[in-house]
Amino acid sequence: MNFKELWSQLLEKLQPRIKRAHFVTWFQDTGVIKNENGVLIVGVPNPFAGDWIKSKYLDTLLELAKEVDPTIESVEIEVHSSLSAKDHAHKVDVKKINSPVVKKTRKLPNKNEVKLIEGISSRCLNPKYTLDNYVVGPGNRLAHAAASAVSVKPGSTYNPLFVYGGVGLGKTHLLQSIGNEILRNFPDKTVVYVTSEKFTNEIVEAIQKYDSKKFKQKYRNVDCLIIDDIQFLANKDRTQVEFFHTFNELYDMNKQIVISSDRPPKELSGLEDRLVNRFEMGMIVDVQMPDFETRLAILQKKVQNYEALVPVEVLEFIAYHCQSSVRELEGVLKQAMAQADLENSMPTVKSVAAIMDKLCPKREYKEFVKEIPRIITDIEEVIRLVSDYYNVTPDNVVGTGRKREFMVPRQVCMYLVRNELKQSYEHIGEEFGGRNHTTVMHACDKVNGYLKYDQRLVRDINALKREMGM
Ligand code: ADP
Ligand code: MG
Repeated sequence: MNFKELWSQLLEKLQPRIKRAHFVTWFQDTGVIKNENGVLIVGVPNPFAGDWIKSKYLDTLLELAKEVDPTIESVEIEVHSSLSAKDHAHKVDVKKINSPVVKKTRKLPNKNEVKLIEGISSRCLNPKYTLDNYVVGPGNRLAHAAASAVSVKPGSTYNPLFVYGGVGLGKTHLLQSIGNEILRNFPDKTVVYVTSEKFTNEIVEAIQKYDSKKFKQKYRNVDCLIIDDIQFLANKDRTQVEFFHTFNELYDMNKQIVISSDRPPKELSGLEDRLVNRFEMGMIVDVQMPDFETRLAILQKKVQNYEALVPVEVLEFIAYHCQSSVRELEGVLKQAMAQADLENSMPTVKSVAAIMDKLCPKREYKEFVKEIPRIITDIEEVIRLVSDYYNVTPDNVVGTGRKREFMVPRQVCMYLVRNELKQSYEHIGEEFGGRNHTTVMHACDKVNGYLKYDQRLVRDINALKREMGM
């Protein structure tokens, strides 16, 4: 059995076991590099895919590899960036490994989970923020490590933990994750997450009602106090005094305190020195804007969470251009997915560029957008568009190659010319290398047939129609 066959068989077995979106995202551009002395070496195109596959799928891959080839005893992952090349000899096109009907099964939460989520939400924590779905890169590695340490051993080494960084870089995500994680590890502990605005409001209310007892009870009986955006305590003297006492009491009892701010403690003007000194007693970590690779990994993570399909080049485009915050990055992705959903099409670089241009007009986006309003009526242009979309050459599209990666674009192209440009089967046949009109009819029928169950094809065709200005 050659490497390609081996890998195809393995992927066929793997595919029904995991979500389609994950399958496509992580296993495209992969292949078997070597199979020797019981060791199967699987090549992946980049370190992300490598890390991800290693952490999530290695055991499954080994199990399935043994089924395909019983001599295999272990599986190793290696990064081979050449696998991204279109014609790499070893790789298998995952999109050909098909499951036409994707059934969505909703996992019923078990009792424990329900209880946990209730518990968490009653304490103002959003369960969607976890350390697990916080993507780690050079700009936040230390912050993530400190957060993990605190979740495992609250109130010991890193106390207080002070996280600072610019807007939309993941501070709230980290703080909330710590709360969620502590509750997961120690279900009996009391965790309170509060923004400094809310904290201030509660103090003001207590003062107005001459009743600070309730307030004191609430905050001095917690095992972990998390205060977000402490910079808003600036110049609020009464709040600071109250916070100082709460802080000291909790600290003396070895309770965990976690604080975030948009700047380091020393630069917090309007905050009492004694508070700043307290903050400096513990661990201070910053979060920075993630680099390109981390941004791409964040996008891939979000795409998985939504079980959406977004082409890699679209993710790369967003990751490359959104450089101001993770919130912006996420915002663009969400809009792109929402729009594609509404139109039942696939997000494309052009559609994303249009969204980004609306949010923040820039020349480089216009470059991508400007072709959109034009209506394409020329067969050659349709061929070019389709070949670009599928990453093949126009010659592949009109030629006679029988490979599936050429056949699909060819059939799609004939279908679009027939349905959108209303050309006769005879004429289309001539334009496609002098084919017989029955071949064209057959291609159009085939596409029509696939469209009944292949959601991916529906989206591809809708995206193409949009690019044609239809
Ligand atoms: P901040 O509190 O620093 O203003 P947030 O924590 O609200 O920022 O983050 C903004 C959005 O970006 C959130 O939806 C969060 O989940 C996401 N985000 C930020 N950093 C990361 C990361 N490293 N991995 C995954 N998601 C992230
Ligand atoms: Mg925040």
